[in-house]
Amino acid sequence: ESFDECGLSERILQILRKMKIEKPFAVQALCIPCIMAGRDVIGIAKTGSGKTLSYLLPMLRHIGDQPPLEQNESGPIGLILCPARELAVQIQNVTKAFAKQLGLKFKTFPLSTAVYGGAGVAEQIADLKRGTHICVATPGRMIDILTMQSGRILSLSRVSYVVLDEADRMFDMGFSPQIDAILSTVRPDRQTVLFSATFPKTVEHLARKSLKFPLEILV
Ligand code: AMP
Repeated sequence: ESFDECGLSERILQILRKMKIEKPFAVQALCIPCIMAGRDVIGIAKTGSGKTLSYLLPMLRHIGDQPPLEQNESGPIGLILCPARELAVQIQNVTKAFAKQLGLKFKTFPLSTAVYGGAGVAEQIADLKRGTHICVATPGRMIDILTMQSGRILSLSRVSYVVLDEADRMFDMGFSPQIDAILSTVRPDRQTVLFSATFPKTVEHLARKSLKFPLEILV
């Protein structure tokens, strides 16, 4: 098993080697090719299994494949919803490490911006206004920002790749209505992937509503 067979760009493969990430973990070897093929995916995988790169590497490819921005266009292409501040910060740290390595291409504005509760909203709004390719968000704060100033802070109209990370935790925290509300503003032809440590009926229901003909991958 090697990352070479996952369809990633040479650039990303180089960066992975530099980061000493040499062989894909099981979840990565199984999920990345399916996601790269454009399928919606449900990955049942625990924290520590390597789920973050499973959805982030295809997201980097997805962003790289987009045409350059037209004038007046703004807003992220990738949206990652996760249950809590600590996880949002952790994901943001991983994207930052890639942004640093990718360098020039993303210099116009940051690769990724994180917004989450329990921290000041003003700075997060300022970050979003600078522009971003990826938004990492907790559902509550995302709703707050989407409804501020009649929606002029952030538009999700360009989002075409959505990740629901730790979906079971988001469900347990009661975030289902917020997730529904957020996804209702994202184009229906998006790609959606869901990761969850467990897969109870409640999460299956959330997945059935939000994903299209998903492949289920149990690690
Ligand atoms: P995650 O489950 O995404 O939180 O990842 C757990 C940890 O494993 C993180 O510290 C990653 O940097 C590391 N990691 C992820 N994938 C690999 C890999 N293929 N090889 C070595 N380390 C990895």
